[in-house]
Amino acid sequence: MAHDAPQATGPSKLVIRNIGLLLSGAMEKPILDADTIVAENGKITAIGRFKDVNTDDATTVVNANGTTVAPGLIDSHVHPVAGDWTPRQNQTGWIDSYLHGGVTTMISAGEVHMPGRPRDVVGVKAMAIFAQRSFWTLRPGGVKIHAGAPVIENEMVEDDFKELAAAGVKLLGEVGLGGVKDGPTARKMVGWARKYGIQSTIHTGGPSIPGSGLIDKDVVLEADTDVIGHINGGHTALPDDQIRCICEGCKRGLELVHNGNERSALFTLRTAREMGDLSRVILGTDAPAGSGVQPLGILRMVSLLSSLGDLPAEIAFCLATGNTARMRALDCGIIEIGRSADFVIMDMAQHSPGKNILHSVQLGDLPGIGMTIIDGIVRTQRSRNAPPATRVPEIVGH
Ligand SMILES: [Zn+2]
Repeated sequence: MAHDAPQATGPSKLVIRNIGLLLSGAMEKPILDADTIVAENGKITAIGRFKDVNTDDATTVVNANGTTVAPGLIDSHVHPVAGDWTPRQNQTGWIDSYLHGGVTTMISAGEVHMPGRPRDVVGVKAMAIFAQRSFWTLRPGGVKIHAGAPVIENEMVEDDFKELAAAGVKLLGEVGLGGVKDGPTARKMVGWARKYGIQSTIHTGGPSIPGSGLIDKDVVLEADTDVIGHINGGHTALPDDQIRCICEGCKRGLELVHNGNERSALFTLRTAREMGDLSRVILGTDAPAGSGVQPLGILRMVSLLSSLGDLPAEIAFCLATGNTARMRALDCGIIEIGRSADFVIMDMAQHSPGKNILHSVQLGDLPGIGMTIIDGIVRTQRSRNAPPATRVPEIVGH
């Protein structure tokens, strides 16, 4: 486990050149006409043709060797607990494994697997503040983990949300995983959270594990959270007519997860597309879960939606990058000057029948990952989890 992720010391300048395909992460222009990216001190400072950008005095030069550069993938729905350990399946190193699946940012939907999780208000607040601090300090492999997501309980009052926000808490965990399971109470507390700048999500669908419960469309729509957490269910999804009602009944984020019902994910995708609302669709894994952890889960969602949902691969990648970044107000997820230099460098997997990487994803294959970069620092080279890429980038100079 790479618990001691390298941090930038002093000024740094990263140049990635010889990019074959540059995916922006932004749906309005998913492919950029550029072969070079420059990042200084962790932020993107230039995107263009090699001859047109200033690559002098680079501290790290990566030759992409004609491969594909995309924003680092964002997992909109994880359940971290402590460091790189999850008690759910008693695994260590799961976050580092996700980095090898191209994930550079994770959003906690609640640290609900904590053994002995407190349910009293003081305990709920203390655990959220602790998780926010601890995951911001310790970044396994360099992965950015936005955690500290308390799950609301009936005894909470407005001042609790004010206090949480003042302490740096920016997220609510899934509404419905605590004592609050009714629409009116959820709506009141989600409103308090929003008033103090705390973003919210909700458990949608049937219970995922013993102890969680059913949250149907009426509760989801009344609660009015910022993100409709796993609209395709925590394995048990709502009926299609309820999913359609939610899509049509609000303008909130529509989150599709790997540990959900795949048919319902495709139904949601079709519904959102018919409505011209694809920018609302974001991706997560909802791991660790009853079905384990899935280091390639976000890539698998991209491939699933692209191949079975008939979505151009360059758009499918936006659901895992730019859409989530915009919905979650993150400074990563899009290849744009000023944003974080978080990248995944990929190529078509060896022996895929595709004509190129995008075609291979549209055929349902996963791409190979050759490198991940976070804050302008190379974190991993050839992935230990993805299929081997046909071509891989290399570090050619410091
Ligand atoms: Zn859930």
